[in-house]
Amino acid sequence: MNAPKGWYEGVSMPRFGICIGCEVKIPYVSARNTEKELESRSRSHRSSTYSVRSWSRQLCALCRSSISYIEQIGCPHCGRAVRCTDCERHPLFVHGLTANRSAVAYSEAMKAWLHRYKFQGDTGYAAIMAGMMLQRYELLAATISNFHHQITVPPLPLYERLRRWLYQLPSVPYPDVVTFVPSTVERLIDRGFNPAERLATLLATAWNCPVMPLLTRMTDQGRQSHLGRSGRELALSGAYCCHTQALQTLCVNINTSNKSPLYILLVDDVYTTGSTVRACAGALTGALRNYGISSIICSYTWARA
Ligand SMILES: [Zn+2]
Ligand SMILES: [Zn+2]
Repeated sequence: MNAPKGWYEGVSMPRFGICIGCEVKIPYVSARNTEKELESRSRSHRSSTYSVRSWSRQLCALCRSSISYIEQIGCPHCGRAVRCTDCERHPLFVHGLTANRSAVAYSEAMKAWLHRYKFQGDTGYAAIMAGMMLQRYELLAATISNFHHQITVPPLPLYERLRRWLYQLPSVPYPDVVTFVPSTVERLIDRGFNPAERLATLLATAWNCPVMPLLTRMTDQGRQSHLGRSGRELALSGAYCCHTQALQTLCVNINTSNKSPLYILLVDDVYTTGSTVRACAGALTGALRNYGISSIICSYTWARA
C-alpha cells in the first residue's frame, strides 16, 4: 500500500511532464502537464489552455527537432518553401487574397500531429500549433510587407517600438481582425470543435486583437483531401458566404476615420491547393466591398503542403 505523500515529498520529489508528441517523460513544465493530470483526463479532453508562449516546453528535444519550419520563401504569393508555378497560373489576388504564409512544411511528422489534432480530437496540439504560428509570424509577415507595399505598418505603442529597436525586431503589421475558415455544422457536432477557430482564437488572444466569425459554410460536399485542384474548386464554389451579423458588428466598430485598409488575417490549419482560402477570401472581399470597406486579406496557415 502506498503511503500518502507529505507536502515535503511533493516539493522535493522530481516531477515530470509528458511530451505531447511521443509521450516520453520530460522535465516538469507546468502543474497542468504532470503525469497524474494527464492520466486522470482522457486525451480528447486534454486542455489547450497551456500557455501558447511556452509551447515548446511541452515537447521533447526529438519532437522539437522534427518540426519542419519554412525557412525560406520560394513563392512570395503562397509562402511555399520552393518556387511554384501554381500561383502564376492561378494568382491569389484574383480571389482578393494578398498572400498566404505558413509556419511549417507539411512533412510526415507534421501530418501525424495534424491528424491527432483534427481527427482524433487531441486539442492539446492547438496551443503547440498556435505557438509555432505566433513565433513565426513576425518573420513571415515581414516577407509579405516587403513584397506587397500596400500593407502599411500601423503605429505601435512607444514601448513596443523601443523593444523592437532594442532587439532589432522587424516592425510588422498585426491584423486588425482575425477570422478563420468555418466548419460545417455536421463536422462541428462530430468533432466538437473547429480546428481553425481554435488556432485563430489563441493567436488573436496573444496579439490582443479581435477574432470574428466573418464566414459561414453553406454546403458540405464531403472531404476534399482526395480531390485535385479543379475538383476542390468545383466543390467549394459557393460553399462559403459572409456571416451578416458578424460583418455588421465589424462595420459598427470599424474606425471610419482611419484611411488605411482593414487588415484581415484568415486562419486555417493547412494550405493544400489553396482552394479553401481562395473561396473564403472571395466571399469576404465581395461582402466587404458591398459594405464599402477596403480591406487587405492575408491567410495564415499552420502548414503548407
Ligand atoms: Zn516527443
Ligand atoms: Zn505559390
